[in-house]
Order: sequence, then structure tokens, then C-alpha cells
Amino acid sequence: MSEIANISFKALAEKYGTPLVVYDEEKLRERLQAFTENFKSDSVKTDVIYASKAFSCKAMIQLIQEYGCCLDVVSGGELYTAYKAGFDCSKIFFHGNNKTPAEIRMALELGVGTIVIDNVMEAEELLRQIEGTDYQIRVFLRVNPGIEAHTHQYIVTAHVDSKFGISMLDEKEIAYVTDLFEGCDNTSFAGIHAHIGSQIFDGQAYVELVRKMFAFAAKMKKEYGVNIDSVNLGGGFAAYYTNADHPIPVDEVCAAILRTAEEENVKINHQIKRVCIEPGRSIVAEAGYNLYRVGYIKKTPNRLYAFVDGGMSDNIRPALYQAEYDAFIAGREDEEKHADYTIAGKCCESGDILIQSIALPEVHTGDILVMRTTGAYGYSMASHYNKLPLPAVVFVKDGEDRVVIERESYDHLISLEK
Ligand SMILES: *Cc1c(COP(=O)(O)O)cnc(C)c1O
Repeated sequence: MSEIANISFKALAEKYGTPLVVYDEEKLRERLQAFTENFKSDSVKTDVIYASKAFSCKAMIQLIQEYGCCLDVVSGGELYTAYKAGFDCSKIFFHGNNKTPAEIRMALELGVGTIVIDNVMEAEELLRQIEGTDYQIRVFLRVNPGIEAHTHQYIVTAHVDSKFGISMLDEKEIAYVTDLFEGCDNTSFAGIHAHIGSQIFDGQAYVELVRKMFAFAAKMKKEYGVNIDSVNLGGGFAAYYTNADHPIPVDEVCAAILRTAEEENVKINHQIKRVCIEPGRSIVAEAGYNLYRVGYIKKTPNRLYAFVDGGMSDNIRPALYQAEYDAFIAGREDEEKHADYTIAGKCCESGDILIQSIALPEVHTGDILVMRTTGAYGYSMASHYNKLPLPAVVFVKDGEDRVVIERESYDHLISLEK
């Protein structure tokens, strides 16, 4: 593929410079459409909540609004971005294990619709701030269901030491927290939330999660009188990075979740009225491409390096957790492969390697290397390491390109320095 939305990658690199982050807007729209269309049920209400930490900027949030989705934020900064994008704050879910008092105040002032409380102290802080005011907020409680799923495996454990949520084994503590909210006029307790991991390929992990959450909701009602009528299942749906990945199609995973939810709900007299999911990666990952210009080529006894003009500063995932990516040389996709290259960034870290080994045609200085599937946790995890300015972000659609985040200049870089 030498082009995207009828614009060549080379032309984009020429026009905007490199490193550059490009999103295929049509692809973003397809994914949003797929989730909103497929996550629907005749018997329960449903919400698709975009986890904005995967990629957040005003243009992205406006797309989310356009598709009628809710938004998940985990910090004052993500909340502020949504607010400035004109997003309807009543559709925001505010997550995080350590929301500061100032962030809680900000959420109340901006009219955030739902807060997902993580722990007892956080519950108490919210109540301290909200009681006796005119604010109203809906509350979910994050629970730890003892299911952990990452990539190809999920495990059901009694893992009780997660930093997130209250363990489901701790029923008394959960009942204590929900009672606090039931007893407050300014809060309405809605239900429980769990998020079991990321890049999950196994639909069965979600089926297990639904069963556990529904059974738990029924048990808490029966034994403690806790009113749980909503269940939020979190995100974690996998994306396609390389040909080793086989993500479950959106329609299948949505159907599996809702089918199980409907079955389980029958067993508990339709106690659950609303089911939510929070996809992040699976909406934005495959729509994103990182473009780099190749600099020097270097041969060592066992490796052939191609150096690029970005690296861990714009995509830390390979260094952070050995994430694997596919890439190609723009305009030369059909050429015969010449050798296996190691794609290394320009940061001063031996670990700054974007791709350990990839077969490419003979790479020349000046070539544009395009890395696929960089749309999630790439720009959002970018840093200023080595004082590299953040790349520009461009959306392309129907032969048109538009900048949604400007490239940083050196002056931007030092703009806060005295
Ligand atoms: C990170 C996160 C998500 C999104 O996870 P993805 O793997 O990007 O789908 C959803 N909900 C919560 C609470 C999260 O922390």
C-alpha cells in the first residue's frame, strides 16, 4: 500500500516532514460504526465508551461525539481535552485509581456524568466534596474480578493485589462503599466496573467476565441489599499488529458479550438494565501509521541497522513491552526483499529499537519507512526524551489531509522554561 485515502505516504512525508503520525479517518469511522452498530441489545441498554487514553485530541473526541459514544478519561488533562473539544460532559466516565481532590472537584464543576470509584478513600473524598452541594454524579465501583487477560491467555485467579479496584472477594468492603453512595442525595450508585487487560484475543475471557459480574451483582443484591443495575466490562479488545495476530472481529466479540449477558440476565430476573464496554486500542490502533525518514544504514557483525528520525520518544511500546510492528518502505512495497533489517530510533538508549527484525528491500537513506498499527498508545505515550519535539498528527480522508495536532517546534519545547 503506497497510499492512504488516495494520498501517497511519500507526499504526506514531504508536506509535513517526519516523524509524522497519520490517521486514516475512514478507518476510525468504520471502527466506531462497527462498535456502535453491533453493541446493541433488545433487552438491555448499552453504551460504547471510548477509552481516550489510547489517543486523545480534540479532533478524535469530536469524532467520538459524532458517533454518539461515551468517553472514558483518567486524568484532569484528558478531561480538560474533552471539555475543550466541546464534548458533552454528562457522557464522560471518569476513571483512575488515584483521582486527586482537585481532579474530583474539576469533574463536579464540569458536570461529568459518571465517576468510577476505585477504593474506599476515594469514595470518602468524593462524598466529602459533594455532600451539601447542588452537584449530582452517577457512581460505578471498580471491582477486581480475579480475571487477568493479556494477549493470548487469560487466567482466572484469586489475584487480590491489583492496584485497581476492590477484590470481589471483599464483599463487605464493596457493600460498605455502595452503602455510602446509597446514603447520599448527591450520588446515584449504578453498578460495577472491571477492566481485565489489554490486547485480548480470547473472546472466552469476556464471556467469563460477564458471567462473573452478573452473578456477583445478583449475590450482592441478595446478601447485602446492594442495588447493582449496570455492569461495565472495560476494554482490552485486540488489534492487528502483525500477521501473528488474529483479533476477534468486532461483531463477534460484541455478539458473544451480549448473548452471554442476555442469558445471565434471565437467570437473575433481568436485574441488569445496562451493559457498557470501553474499547480504546481496537478503535484507533489500526487506523494509525507512523512515518519516518531513514537516515544512516549501519552493518555490525550480526545486524543490519536502518536508523530512523524518531523512535521511543514517539512510540515507546517496543521498548516498554516488546510490542511488535509491521512496516514497509513507502512506494517500494512490491520490490523483492533484500535483507532483514533492525529498525532503530535516534534516542540515546540501546533499547530504542522499533522493530527487531524485518525483511525489506534494500533500504536507502531518505526512504520513508511506514510503521503500521501505531494509532493506539503511540502519540499518547510520547515523551520529550532527548528533547525531540513531538511529531505532527494528520487525519486523511477522501484525498484530503488536515493537521489535528501541530508538530512541536524547538520554541515549544522550551516554552515553559525560565
Ligand atoms: C485502558 C483502559 C481501557 C481501554 O483498554 P484498551 O486495551 O485500549 O481497549 C478501558 N477501560 C479502562 C478502565 C482502562 O484502564
